[in-house]
Amino acid sequence: MRLNSNWNRRGFLGTVGTIVGAMLAPRKLFASKEPAGLNKPVTGFGQTGNPYEELGVTTVINCEGTMTVLGGSLPHPELEAVMTMAGRHFVSIPDLEVAAGNRIAEMLKLPPDYSALVTSGAAAAMQSGLAGILTGGNEALIRQLPDLTGMKSEVIIQKSHRNPFDHQLRSTGIKLVEIETVDQFRAAVNDRTAMMHFSNFANAAGQIKVDEWVKLAKQYNIPCMNDAAADTPPVSHLWDYANMGYDLITFSGGKAIRGPQCAGLLIGRKEMVANALLNNSPHEDTLGRGQKVGKEEIIGMVKALELFLAEDHDAQAREWQDRLEGISREITKVPGVSTLFFVPDIANHVPHMRITWDQAHVKLTPEEARKLLRESKPSIVIGASEEHPGLGMCSFMLQPGEDKIVAEQLSRVFRQHAA
Ligand SMILES: *Cc1c(COP(=O)(O)O)cnc(C)c1O
Repeated sequence: MRLNSNWNRRGFLGTVGTIVGAMLAPRKLFASKEPAGLNKPVTGFGQTGNPYEELGVTTVINCEGTMTVLGGSLPHPELEAVMTMAGRHFVSIPDLEVAAGNRIAEMLKLPPDYSALVTSGAAAAMQSGLAGILTGGNEALIRQLPDLTGMKSEVIIQKSHRNPFDHQLRSTGIKLVEIETVDQFRAAVNDRTAMMHFSNFANAAGQIKVDEWVKLAKQYNIPCMNDAAADTPPVSHLWDYANMGYDLITFSGGKAIRGPQCAGLLIGRKEMVANALLNNSPHEDTLGRGQKVGKEEIIGMVKALELFLAEDHDAQAREWQDRLEGISREITKVPGVSTLFFVPDIANHVPHMRITWDQAHVKLTPEEARKLLRESKPSIVIGASEEHPGLGMCSFMLQPGEDKIVAEQLSRVFRQHAA
């Protein structure tokens, strides 16, 4: 895995800080501050400890990664207490947003003219960030969106960077202008151009790379956004693109950062971030009023970032790789089954494993294998795609002990279909 020297220093200091903090403050000291009701047994709905099954919805073992459709990620257990505390008071949400944003900017050591906003997700951050660019602080324009009369109306994007999340940009009323080359970009710029958008995961696919895109933006003095929703780890991405000069950068809070599921981050120039907030909940008669972010999520996001920065990311990556190797050792005992390991360059930059088999030995298509695992007990969700042979999986969303279950179930399914 690519190591980041900037991270190593922060990681070490952060980890030491956490350990010392834990030694100085044993749990007992906090007993009186613990919110009432946290340890009370639940009666009625939830009393079994699994409210999902009480509703008849099966929980799954997640080998696919941080998929919003499966619930994203599991928040750090430490968030629970802080989010419960947050739920016990009333507070001005705009004041809280500004204070949380300042704290986050400080924690991430962002450039001096940058701050942050906790949103309901990266998708919300994209919409509100662009809305703020379009309206500035003008109240009439904020109320008027998505009617763009009197505002700029175009966003330039590389064709290969188009993806389902650009719906959030289009929801402001703008038109996406697709280009592929620098020459096409220069021809596309005009006085209706509001912003240039970059989809970080598509860096390799586009002709204009992440550093060159922001340089072009500076040359033409056009605001520039980078959607890096799923692009931590590495943790350094949280500040890299601000340092590179991107005016706005979006991240999911409920993916690998393991913050509240309905939280995300808009990082960017102070004024643009302030204008994004004006276009977002709790402000009414705004495009973003439907993207409510609660006090609990705002507080939870600050805590999640503190925890994420303090983690030993290298040790985690080794643990995730070890789990995959353990599964590999078991399933490759079945004749004809083989595995290979890889780490995607960007987005879900964590250890992955591809599992393939010789159909002469195991009579099963990847889609059939995927279906059998989904229907097994416990249910396992694992990736199969038309682009790649076999099955693909990662282990960073597995809970303790689940790697053993995955190894057993996979081996069983392969053995049952041995030729
Ligand atoms: C997940 C994702 C989003 C949306 O993030 P949310 O936090 O779920 O709103 C946007 N862009 C990309 C590339 C993503 O992967």
